[in-house]
Amino acid sequence: MNKQVTIYCASSPKVPKIYFDSAEELTRLLVEAGYGIRYGGGAKGLMGIVADTALEFGGKITGIIPRFMIDVEWEHKGVTEMIHVKTMHQRKELLIDGTQAVIALPGGIGTLEELFEVMSWKKLGQFPHPIILLNTNNYYDPLIEMSKRMVDESFMRSEHNHLWKVVSEPSEVVPAILATNPWGPQVINFASV
Ligand code: AMP
Repeated sequence: MNKQVTIYCASSPKVPKIYFDSAEELTRLLVEAGYGIRYGGGAKGLMGIVADTALEFGGKITGIIPRFMIDVEWEHKGVTEMIHVKTMHQRKELLIDGTQAVIALPGGIGTLEELFEVMSWKKLGQFPHPIILLNTNNYYDPLIEMSKRMVDESFMRSEHNHLWKVVSEPSEVVPAILATNPWGPQVINFASV
């Protein structure tokens, strides 16, 4: 079985350096641990550093990108494999195809959309693998607060606060994946949803 993870992260090249450093360290650690990476196929921002670092350390990196993004030249030109799709929905399906974990790095609307879709699938028992939130620089604290409020006001059950595993440092990501999913899929208790 190929070890593979999916990364969702920012396309913006303007974010502070701390986020680039964290994305770079995480990617190096994933490659050293033998994971192939699937990501959105972009060349800039945190996506770009993830792709460049994976290649630099000899890792396998697969981009999945809709054709309209190629037309505006957002595509990374050097990744191991680039899969071209028609729609954003096809892309999101392929991003998690064969993956053993999803890792969300800091990002904007696109990252949040991808993260929340996979979280809602997990909540409904349709995605069995770990979802790791890398909370670099406490970027996601307001989102974590929001999720607590959802529970406090009964929009969500308290166990759904554990749909994701929040970590602060890149070095915590691989241990978090292994702790949640040593290889067999961890299926949530559908009856409790
Ligand atoms: P955002 O967080 O809004 O920058 O969006 C990043 C996420 O959405 C990535 O994980 C990609 O899958 C997708 N995405 C958004 N913008 C781009 C882009 N310029 N190139 C490639 N993928 C993008």
